[in-house]
Amino acid sequence: MLLGALRAEVAAVCGQLAAAGLVTGTSGNVSARDGDLVAVTPSGLDYAALTPGLVGVHRLDGSPVEAPLQPTSELPLHLSVYAATGAAAIVHTHSPAATAVSALVEEIPAVHYYVALFGGPVAVAPYATYGTDELAASVVAALRGRTGCLMANHGAVTIGPGLATAHSRAASLEWLCDVYLRAASAGTPRLLPPGEIDRVVKKIATYGQQPPP
Ligand code: 13P
Ligand code: ZN
Repeated sequence: MLLGALRAEVAAVCGQLAAAGLVTGTSGNVSARDGDLVAVTPSGLDYAALTPGLVGVHRLDGSPVEAPLQPTSELPLHLSVYAATGAAAIVHTHSPAATAVSALVEEIPAVHYYVALFGGPVAVAPYATYGTDELAASVVAALRGRTGCLMANHGAVTIGPGLATAHSRAASLEWLCDVYLRAASAGTPRLLPPGEIDRVVKKIATYGQQPPP
């Protein structure tokens, strides 16, 4: 099977997103890039039914290479993000806290230094109908210099050099939005100043370890 390992990884990440409640039913979509090919989830298929062979392979111009089902309706968004960034993986969810915050603000308030995980303040891309080139352009603009954004009244997008990173960023973005909602529901959150976020963006670039070999 063409890109068998990558398609299996896409299907596995979808299963994990569903198990964690970051996607439900057929909401959201996932893709990963290998050179000028993209492995991308099919449109409107319940994640419980997704197998590696049903993850389609398309060229960067959208033409199908090996795709038994129609690709995600957000294929224009995925292809536009690949064209505009160095990303090799994209995760789009309708995770509940991120979607709620997307209907409240134009930028995620800096309630926690984790905003820096995404390269700085996280923008909310203006609303456009799902699956449109207008939404794709809106998301590309909101992702400039960032690894995640919200989509107004819709959901969230995260990108990364691989699926593991794009996936963990989707979980972190949901966590950040959930913290904001909890703080805002209990009072007026104290926010971190932009200078502190800039400082953490630099500091966090070298955060993290791997176990010794
Ligand atoms: P697809 O099932 O076509 O991927 O659409 C889900 C979605 O989230 C659209 O924004
Ligand atoms: Zn969506």
